Amino acid sequence: MTGLHAHLVARINADGPLSIADYMADCLLHPDWGYYATRDPLGAAGDFTTAPEISQMFGELIGLALAQSWMDQGGPTPFALAELGPGRGTLMADILRAARAVPGFHTAMRLCLVEASPALREAQAHALSGYDATWYDSAADLPDLPLFLVANEFFDALPIRQFIRDGDGWRERRIGADEDGALTFGLTDATPQPALAHRIADTRDGDLIETCAPGTAIAATIGARIAARGGTALIIDYGEWRSLGDTFQALRGHAHADPLEAPGTADLTAHVDFESLASAAAPAAHTRLTPQGVFLERLGITTRAQALAARLSGEALDAHVAAHRRLTHPDEMGTLFKVMALHPANTDPPPGLSQ
Ligand code: SAH
Repeated sequence: MTGLHAHLVARINADGPLSIADYMADCLLHPDWGYYATRDPLGAAGDFTTAPEISQMFGELIGLALAQSWMDQGGPTPFALAELGPGRGTLMADILRAARAVPGFHTAMRLCLVEASPALREAQAHALSGYDATWYDSAADLPDLPLFLVANEFFDALPIRQFIRDGDGWRERRIGADEDGALTFGLTDATPQPALAHRIADTRDGDLIETCAPGTAIAATIGARIAARGGTALIIDYGEWRSLGDTFQALRGHAHADPLEAPGTADLTAHVDFESLASAAAPAAHTRLTPQGVFLERLGITTRAQALAARLSGEALDAHVAAHRRLTHPDEMGTLFKVMALHPANTDPPPGLSQ
């Protein structure tokens, strides 16, 4: 049994079965054994690949969308250019390179990175070595400035809880341990959950829904900041407008794995429930949830792809064409991934999105 596994079994023996949120938090961020705390999980050698690691076009278009939104709001100076969970720093490096073309943007920005993992902070410092970045533990610590923010595949990594409808109450899915220490799923008795009152009308007995309290807390923080000070948040992730069904999953070596096996050695995620983020972000306005492929096409990815293709040949050209397809095609990331922006109610949505 690994150190983290023994620690989880000890917690279960002392306090009873863990919520999935408690389990995820330890597996992902435990300071000694947590998945993100101890490694760089991205890329071909890691467990999963993200859009900015697939092509520079993703970050360039996001950068120009954020810069356009900043100009549309009068170019507030100074402002916070922030990213939640910046991974290897690739997305922010591409954003900054593209936004260099926009006069005043670089001198007005304060570069703010919210990152929990020491290993990834180091990778980000390396990727952004030419810039003056400040790292924060939490979105609540961001400076009180107009906020232009991006979060790609961040909210899916936050701890969720699962509830199964039973009459007017809900049974929570929890994680216990058998006599040999093997981790197993179980269910609590049905209890009323006032926070889920809005889901009584659209669920039936046996339906499973997921909640993400850390995600809604962060959305509330950035929504309040954007409503008060101006700005835009681009939230990009897999998920739906409204959670329904079990989406808790583990990825190891680019393949699905059992989330209860070898805790701390796989990426654990769940689909994002965008409606709960939008509601929590009020009084900031939110855009319509838009498929990533549609969003990138509206921002001009095809024109950018053609311009880059003109300089490529052979295998590099094939890889570039495949990357464009991977980001936008409905069979790849184009439909599963979605984009929603938060913006002040009295401003237009950022480019590529609509109300
Ligand atoms: N946005 C990057 C990386 C996505 S992986 C990309 O698109 O490539 C998720 C990122 O969120 C990692 O950087 C991880 O360390 C970070 N993260 C996960 N949970 C976090 C938390 N609670 N607080 C801050 N950062 C977190």
